[in-house]
Amino acid sequence: MTTDVQQWQIGDVRVTKVVETVVAWRFSILLPDCTPELVDSVPWMRPHFVDDDGKMLLSIHTLVVESQGRRILVDTCIGNDKARPSRSFNMLQTDFLTRLGAAGFPPETIDVVTCTHLHVDHVGWNTRLDDGVWVPTFPNARHLFNRAEYEYWHANPDEEMNGTVIADSVEPVVDAGLVDLVDEDHRITDEVWLEPTPGHTPGHVCVRISSAGQDAIITGDMIHSPIQVRYNLSCGVDTDRDLGDRTRAAFVERYGDSGTLVIGTHFATPTAGHIVRDGANWKFEV
Ligand SMILES: [Zn+2]
Repeated sequence: MTTDVQQWQIGDVRVTKVVETVVAWRFSILLPDCTPELVDSVPWMRPHFVDDDGKMLLSIHTLVVESQGRRILVDTCIGNDKARPSRSFNMLQTDFLTRLGAAGFPPETIDVVTCTHLHVDHVGWNTRLDDGVWVPTFPNARHLFNRAEYEYWHANPDEEMNGTVIADSVEPVVDAGLVDLVDEDHRITDEVWLEPTPGHTPGHVCVRISSAGQDAIITGDMIHSPIQVRYNLSCGVDTDRDLGDRTRAAFVERYGDSGTLVIGTHFATPTAGHIVRDGANWKFEV
């Protein structure tokens, strides 16, 4: 398992990646139209984003954004002890929380938790099991959920795909009074704000960073693999695949050749890079 820590500096903002786990899945599990031949047609996907068996390397990590004295955790991975339909995610046991602390971020020092969306691998560490009860992992953090996203999943818990995620990882922090429901373009600090990118889920957001003339964006699951920069491949678990495709196409056009550092929420190490022109196409350059 890759448990590396990576850091990026964007002006005065520092972003730290702490990995929970890395899984290798057939590309078609998440991207139904992505054949092995299509993967082989994109040479720059290797070696970082494809393993030796041609599988997608899917990194599950959190990103700690430090801005203006605040510690903002973007997405909280899968979590321990959680019963999940996916074998890769079910009843996980990792030392993620210890390693987050070792990286300089003990749970009680986190000021803000924000989730790009409310899927299982983005909300898990919102809670931890304490004597049989799900309790908030980050007791001093305001948890920011996009209002539309929360209202959708609150009404449609979708247990077949997500298991009991809303009940065990979302509602307990709501019940603890730690949640603020925010708008899709909510500003967290002067340098960090949410940017609406719907389609994967109804209220999906990216996290945009701009400081001292430097720019970055955290993708969330608007894109799962850099191959989607080259081919606009739909994600099979999008709640609205057409909208997801339009959002991704607009994202690539907007951030391509813009100098903006694109930090992939599921991209394996090195995780961040730039979308740049490659003849008539786009490529992801690390
Ligand atoms: Zn995800």
